[in-house]
Amino acid sequence: MMGYIKYLFLIGLLFTNNLFAAPEYAASGVEMKAVQVSEHVWYVKGASGAATENEGFISNSGFVITEEGVVVYDALGSPSLAQQLIAEIRKVTNKPIVKLILGHYHADHIYGAQVFKELGAEIIAPVGVYKYIDSDVGINRLEERRISLYPWVDDDTYIVKPDRLLDKAETFTLGGITFLINVVGPAHSDGDMTLYIENDRVLFSGDLIFEGRVPYLGSSDTRFWLKTLEKMEMQSLQGLVPGHGAAAKEPAKTVSLTRRYLAFIREKMGAAVEELEAFDEAYKQTDWSEFANLPAFKEANRKNAYQVYLSMEAEALED
Ligand SMILES: [Zn+2]
Repeated sequence: MMGYIKYLFLIGLLFTNNLFAAPEYAASGVEMKAVQVSEHVWYVKGASGAATENEGFISNSGFVITEEGVVVYDALGSPSLAQQLIAEIRKVTNKPIVKLILGHYHADHIYGAQVFKELGAEIIAPVGVYKYIDSDVGINRLEERRISLYPWVDDDTYIVKPDRLLDKAETFTLGGITFLINVVGPAHSDGDMTLYIENDRVLFSGDLIFEGRVPYLGSSDTRFWLKTLEKMEMQSLQGLVPGHGAAAKEPAKTVSLTRRYLAFIREKMGAAVEELEAFDEAYKQTDWSEFANLPAFKEANRKNAYQVYLSMEAEALED
């Protein structure tokens, strides 16, 4: 009898240990290498391709090293990827990771957030993200990724709620480095914000700007987004890290592709709406050759055009 109780006790201990141990995430097999952008700024670059290719490593994440700690921008598409990102950070600094700034809430940028939360980082996100967190889209997407990205996204993966929501621009200083968070509002998603590192003049643009590929417009407010891009003072930038694709060597050029694409699609779809032309007809009549050779054109362009067509119909009713 005593032996049996002792046995139960030992089993219990084992369970208790497991409960309190740090969660273990499936190891990822992707190639990830931190690249230095400027004196204090680094980033890792996701692969191009569909959302569930390359273990979901399709978006970028960046980090800024200061004397007093590390600030991370975006958390990648799985806890496993975030764990690998942290290993990359640890190759260049032992400073604590104090803040995670989530530029927007889309699956490919946020599922790694729980790993940073476990480290005690403060998680900051733009106002509007609860629209995603509480939506069927957000919930269903996670369910789907638990299958399509298993074992890197599984039942233990959850959508982390931010510790703090920002509804307007904010500046903070850490270890002598000045950070400017710009809350852009609903542009590419329900809420977007960029992070600018003043000392280095480097901008993390999130998905407001895509390098060398057709952007996925989703449910974005393209009118507001286009205005934002037009306003950005890119000439003064030293570096630009987009949400996807390589850090820009010439920031102004990178911005210009996304801006031109948005302007073009709004011009063509806007004209069709005005002339009461059916979408299919307008889409067929449009000469897309300027963008047709870019990555993601086939996957994204028709959906993008249709979204813009519908939203411009709604805009026309507003005016
Ligand atoms: Zn993205």
